[in-house]
Amino acid sequence: MNSSDHGDPASPLSPQTRLVTSGRDTKAQKGFVNPPVVRGSTVLYPTAEDLHAHRGEYSYGRHGTPTTRALQQALMALEGPQCAGVGLAPSGVSAISTALLAVLKAGDHVLVCDNAYRPTRLFCDQMLKRYGIETSYFDPLIGAGIAAHLKPNTAVVMVEAPGSQSFEMPDIPAIAEVAHAHGALVIDDNTWATPLYHRSLDQGVDISIQAGTKYIGGHSDIMFGTIAANKRAWPQVAEGIRQLGVCAGPDDVFLALRGLRTLAVRLAQHQQSGLEMARWLGERPEVQRVLHPALESDPGHAIWKRDFTGASGLFSIVLQPAPQKAVDALLDTVKLFGMGYSWGGFESLAIPFDCTTYRSATQWNPGGPALRLHIGLESTDDLKADLERGFAAFNAAR
Ligand SMILES: *Cc1c(COP(=O)(O)O)cnc(C)c1O
Repeated sequence: MNSSDHGDPASPLSPQTRLVTSGRDTKAQKGFVNPPVVRGSTVLYPTAEDLHAHRGEYSYGRHGTPTTRALQQALMALEGPQCAGVGLAPSGVSAISTALLAVLKAGDHVLVCDNAYRPTRLFCDQMLKRYGIETSYFDPLIGAGIAAHLKPNTAVVMVEAPGSQSFEMPDIPAIAEVAHAHGALVIDDNTWATPLYHRSLDQGVDISIQAGTKYIGGHSDIMFGTIAANKRAWPQVAEGIRQLGVCAGPDDVFLALRGLRTLAVRLAQHQQSGLEMARWLGERPEVQRVLHPALESDPGHAIWKRDFTGASGLFSIVLQPAPQKAVDALLDTVKLFGMGYSWGGFESLAIPFDCTTYRSATQWNPGGPALRLHIGLESTDDLKADLERGFAAFNAAR
């Protein structure tokens, strides 16, 4: 392994190959395939002259270690040629709040997609408001119509494609074109597809966020976030990270890098099993609607097909009208679908959701109880048999 592809975003190698090769420096790792987990704060300088000149590969634990550098190089290779840098954060929410704080100032206005992750809304509506930054929300399907919502002080447009509960698919290139003409930055929470299936920086996004807790970690065992930015936004993002003191713990950084190495095979399986389950669920009499942009029947399918190269294993279903106790009977009967927040691990999950109370630009009225499913790496035959038992319990309790 030579060290010519540490993370060069212009490398001609395919994304799958770069997931394996990027960020590896065999010589610096004394022959080992992986970097060590460097636990460190203080970095010692050999001479007073070196100290005064801040000379040295590393300066302080918070600013980087061999472990964080390996991961950052691998992430840059994944984010593509527009990527000027990637910051590491201790969670996805921290990545979002850090990115927003890094580029906004008092008196600014932020436009957020109405299907955004709920803690993003909370941060905007409460913390940013206290700092004199105003937030308003827009219909995820607005496209170029976003122009009507821009104010002279709109500095950021934040999107999520697709939203991780309701799966509406915003037209990011159309939104970005209008936002840029206005001088605003575009931030995308790209957790659902990961940069492997959606290179948001190539589509006009300035800052691309990942909750690395999900597919990058891939094993439900870390909290982690990434902030990738293009040339225009990276200097501000890097300075914001520095001033806020944002950094991630060495074990989580190591596990994120380990997860990244197998992202392509895991995601391909999540995609395949997810689509198979989505199609199967679409045929079930208990299911009114499947919300999955990779299904031909989905309203977001054309945009997904144009802008994405794959789908992950997360989607939602709307059940036929039924009392809560019937939904609970389903959830209590299934054994392979765990009930819990987060997703992106190897295991399947099912969780009820209802966006009615917090949406403000659009109305959420699906016509039945909604469940979000994460399709893990179990056999789809076993998952179907499990859900069949769940639906029997659902029907008995209706
Ligand atoms: C989980 C999630 C986050 C937050 O990530 P944490 O690591 O849990 O803080 C942000 N955005 C989306 C879309 C998510 O699903």
